[in-house]
Amino acid sequence: MRQYQKETKEVKSVQKIICNKCGKEIPVSNGRETEGVFHVNYTWGYFSEKDGERHSFDLCEACYDTLLKGFRIPAEIEG
Ligand SMILES: [Zn+2]
Repeated sequence: MRQYQKETKEVKSVQKIICNKCGKEIPVSNGRETEGVFHVNYTWGYFSEKDGERHSFDLCEACYDTLLKGFRIPAEIEG
C-alpha cells in the first residue's frame, strides 16, 4: 500500500510504501522507491465477478518471490 503526500491539488508524491503481505516498509526517496517493489493497480473487467473494482497493492521482493514459487507453471521471465 502507498501513502501519498499532496504537493498541490493535482500532484501527489509517494511518501510511504508498505508491503501488503508482510508489512515491511520499502524505503522511499524523493517520491520513488529505492528497493524493488511489485506494484499492482488492476481494474477487474466485465467478465469477472468484480466488474469495475480497482485492486491495488504492493509486494516487497521477498514476498513476490514467495508468490512466484507457489505457481504450478513458472512465470515467464526474460532479460
Ligand atoms: Zn513483503
